[in-house]
Amino acid sequence: MNKPAELKLDVIPLWIDGRTVTQAARMGDVFNPATGQVIRRVPYADAKTVDAAVQAARRALPAWRDTPPLRRSRILQRFLQLMQDQQQDLARRVSEEHGKTIPDAAGSIQRGIEVIEFACGIPHLLKGEHAENVGTQVDSHSVRQPVGVCVGITPFNFPVMVPLWMFPVALACGNTFVLKPSEKDPSASIRMAELLKEAGLPDGVFNVVHGDKAAVDALLTHPGVDAVSFVGSTPIAKYIYETSARLGKRVQALGGAKNHAVVLPDADLEFTADALIGAAYGSAGERCMAVSAVVAVGEAGDPLVKLLAQKAKAVKVGPGDREGMDMGALVTGEHRDKVKGYVDQGVKEGATAVVDGRGLKVKGYEDGFYLGTTLFDHVTPQMAVYQNEIFGPVLVVLRAKTLEEAIALVNANPYANGAAIFTESGGAARRFANEVSIGMVGVNVPIPVPMAFFSFGGWKSSLFGDLHVHGMEGVKFYTRTKVITSRWPHQDTPAPGFHMPTMG
Ligand code: NAD
Repeated sequence: MNKPAELKLDVIPLWIDGRTVTQAARMGDVFNPATGQVIRRVPYADAKTVDAAVQAARRALPAWRDTPPLRRSRILQRFLQLMQDQQQDLARRVSEEHGKTIPDAAGSIQRGIEVIEFACGIPHLLKGEHAENVGTQVDSHSVRQPVGVCVGITPFNFPVMVPLWMFPVALACGNTFVLKPSEKDPSASIRMAELLKEAGLPDGVFNVVHGDKAAVDALLTHPGVDAVSFVGSTPIAKYIYETSARLGKRVQALGGAKNHAVVLPDADLEFTADALIGAAYGSAGERCMAVSAVVAVGEAGDPLVKLLAQKAKAVKVGPGDREGMDMGALVTGEHRDKVKGYVDQGVKEGATAVVDGRGLKVKGYEDGFYLGTTLFDHVTPQMAVYQNEIFGPVLVVLRAKTLEEAIALVNANPYANGAAIFTESGGAARRFANEVSIGMVGVNVPIPVPMAFFSFGGWKSSLFGDLHVHGMEGVKFYTRTKVITSRWPHQDTPAPGFHMPTMG
């Protein structure tokens, strides 16, 4: 084990008990998607290493659990300040390993920082209820206690924001934590571990293990793990949920998405098209709240598609660290080829490729994982480009005759993360918000990601579990409720008998 000061950037270490670990039997490559080059190596944890991380978290639990919430909050306040100071540096790291533009990365980090701000209010959020005289001279009060050792397993697309949806709230509630970030862009997780230590977090309270299925399985099956938070694709979310639940662990598993935007003929189409272009192609479409399907209602269709085509062609694609870019490369060559395969399939199935991004070349970056913007019109619900989460810069347009038909289409889709409506009609917007079976709804807001003090989560195949992340649902997930009933007998109080106590 090395000391943090010796951290080598060419190997992204694991972080166990406040120290870095660089040795592993298996190593993975980390790419710079803008150039297509391998820039770092990452050790993949095996079951033994995962056990060391979980044991460290278990050892740290009793003291951290008993640290007053106000003191836990003060450490998070210092972490908040460090994260604000390091925001641009973190954004550069994220852009370098993910491919997204630096301003986009900085924006997503800001949304994560807001969860730390929320978690700093934990002394207030943990307060329970009290009732006097629930029976004669009997009082009851409730407390929220930490769950124990919590695990976070996170996706590649938000390497700072998604872990921040989880661990600030978990730590504030008195839990200890093991993070398994995406092996595709793991650097930022180690920087956050260093900053937590600098903020005064005791060793072992926060740990990071890298790796793939082997590390995840070792965490899920470890008897020392009490709760699992997962964010990623739907098939893996389902697997995580089923495995954790079978082993008696508390679990929330957020999955993939196909987010619809319904556009009514009365919408301001220029405003709507601008909003949709950013929501569809920002971060190369690699956002769980990206708009990937537009449902154009009635006469909105032709003029909307015309505007979308103009704007999609104007999207500037290039390296994420170059100023003025709207969209960067995709995360890996493999993923870029998968997305391209969906575009091939869309053309084969008869969708109209109004804009086709397959031919894009970025001068000087010929080996980068780029794909231009693609816009498909006249897509039907049976086509593969509609049925699958593509997770790339591909926007499909379907046509519907009425709002009712559009709502039915949205509700028939198995994914249910976000949906938006664009209209000038309050009545239509209210009906949409009321009737869609979706976790997060926008009215003239294309990406309705709730602020940190609300909770984030979808329905149906976009979330397995009962509680969403951050906000009060996060506090509920990371705590267990206990109700304490107390009597301090006086001499004139009758002694308890053998029958069922009725208190009154
Ligand atoms: P992914 O499911 O491939 O990976 C997510 C995590 O699971 C990673 O840490 C990965 O190492 C691990 N993993 C991968 N395969 C595994 C396996 N077979 N067994 C156990 N663990 C495994 O997802 P990704 O490609 O990193 O991220 C993109 C996906 O995440 C998209 O589907 C996107 O919609 C989804 N996502 C959802 C939300 C949300 O809030 N619902 C947010 C962000 C991303």
